Amino acid sequence: MSRKALIAANWKMYKTPAEAQAFVDAFLPLVAGHTRDEIVLFPSATSLSTVVEAVAGSNVAVGLQNMHWAEEGAYTGESSAAMLKAVGATHTLIGHSERRQYFGENDEVVNLKLQTALKHGIIPIVCIGEHLDEREAGKTAVVLCAQLRGALTGVTLEAAAPIVIAYEPVWAIGTGRTATPEMAAEAHQIIRAEISQILGPAVADAVRILYGGSVKPDNASSLLQQHDIDGALVGGASLKPDSFAAIVKY
Ligand code: PEP
Repeated sequence: MSRKALIAANWKMYKTPAEAQAFVDAFLPLVAGHTRDEIVLFPSATSLSTVVEAVAGSNVAVGLQNMHWAEEGAYTGESSAAMLKAVGATHTLIGHSERRQYFGENDEVVNLKLQTALKHGIIPIVCIGEHLDEREAGKTAVVLCAQLRGALTGVTLEAAAPIVIAYEPVWAIGTGRTATPEMAAEAHQIIRAEISQILGPAVADAVRILYGGSVKPDNASSLLQQHDIDGALVGGASLKPDSFAAIVKY
C-alpha cells in the first residue's frame, strides 16, 4: 500500500510569533504546489495562532508540540485538545524524547494523550526511540516494542487509523549523529511488525512511521527512500525555510 509521506518541523522552544511569521512568509513560496508529501509545522504554543493564520489556504498544516490528556482542569501551563482545535491546529506531538527526559512523560502518559487526541480527531505523532546505551546493549527492539505496547494500550482497531509513529533514536536527536538508512530501516521494520502484532496487518500496513534524528537536506533523500520510512520529524534543520524546504523536496 502506498503511504503519503509526512514531513514535520519541530521548532521546539524557538521562534517568537514575528519570527514564525517570517518563516512562513519565506517558506510557503518554496513549497507551493508540493502535494507529494504532507507538511506540518509544530511551533511553540505562543506562535500557534500566528502560524495557523499565516498558512491558511496553503498545503501546510499546523500542530502543537504537546497536549494534555484531560478535557480541562487545574493543570497550570498545559493546553487541552479543545484549545488546540479552537485555534485551528490539527496535529500534536506525543512523547517526544525531550518531554520524556525533562518532563517525566512515560508510556502511561503517552497512552492517555494518544487516547485524548484520537477522541478529538487530532492527528497524533507518537515519538519512540532508544537511548545509546540501550542500542549498544542490543536492546533496541525490546525498547521500541515496549514503548509501542505502552502507547497503544486500549487503542481499538477502528480508532487507530490516524496514528503516526516517529522513530527517533534519542542519541541522534540534536546531536548531528544520524542513524544510517539501514539502521533506520531496520528499526522501522521492527516497529511495523510490532504494530501488526498489536493491531493487525491492515493497520500496520497503513500507519506512517517517520524517522527523526538530525535529518538534514543532505541526508534526507537516502533516509526517506527506504521502503518503511514514511517521512521525517525534523528539529534543527527545520528552523530555516530553505533548509526545511530542501528536506520537504528531497
Ligand atoms: C526532533 O526534535 O524531533 C529532532 C529530530 O531534532 P533534530 O532534527 O534536531 O535531531
